[in-house]
Amino acid sequence: MLGSAVQIRLAAPFRPVSFKIHYMSRAIQWDKSKGRPEPIAALNKIPEFESGEPLVSMQEAAPTVRYFRPQAIMYCRKSVAEMIELAARSLPKGYYLGLIEAWRPIERQERIYSFWHDSAAEAFPQYSKAQLRRVACRWAAPTDQKAPPGHCTGAAVDVSLLDENNEPYDVTSPYVRFQGARTYTLGLTEQAHRNRMILVEAMLTQGFSNCRDEYWHYSYGDAGWAVRLDKPSCIYGLVRLEPELYAENERQWLEMFKDRTNPFMEQPKPTGS
Ligand SMILES: [Zn+2]
Repeated sequence: MLGSAVQIRLAAPFRPVSFKIHYMSRAIQWDKSKGRPEPIAALNKIPEFESGEPLVSMQEAAPTVRYFRPQAIMYCRKSVAEMIELAARSLPKGYYLGLIEAWRPIERQERIYSFWHDSAAEAFPQYSKAQLRRVACRWAAPTDQKAPPGHCTGAAVDVSLLDENNEPYDVTSPYVRFQGARTYTLGLTEQAHRNRMILVEAMLTQGFSNCRDEYWHYSYGDAGWAVRLDKPSCIYGLVRLEPELYAENERQWLEMFKDRTNPFMEQPKPTGS
């Protein structure tokens, strides 16, 4: 039945024939009993008592973590850095924790949100404004809400599992790209499931909470963390960093981001050689 639902999408009359839409996680089964939903309304209700804890350089405070993406700005709250260092040290032999993203300026967050919104608008031209906003919010925190996006507070980190050569371990097969994003996606290969759980366990054991929609996203101390763990308040709000400290990371990020393809539209496979 799920397959036929996808077929309806594929047959949408607005699409160029060379593309087909895969509707990502909606067609893929996942375990809804694990983790907690974190609707924006719930995040906005969390009172914020900013602790004033500084952002620290992760290269200094979390030296075991691998910083393989030059566009990542390697700053986060001091406690978060200490926790991620312990998570990295706890991994089995041959596994390394790679940082995809940590603190993020609000401008970068706005660009990411717009990317998801515009991608959805292109893929689903029949959607209303409210539907497009819902899809965009599923993949990126909006910046116009009372609760600031987790990455902009220095509380959130996106992480991956790397091997000796900084190659990512498989945590998604048989799914591709964002299809298997939900942390408790069903139908992963045994290997992918095992690797994914190594990552999840290492982070949760140190006190991080996981966004159940994204196996790579963890936080401590922000509104998302409070909602997921039923805390009455959060300790980290919006925080800024001197722009000179991350100007080069932003330049590299913009360079990387301009080639990003629409995640809602599957690229046709190249034919021939
Ligand atoms: Zn994230």
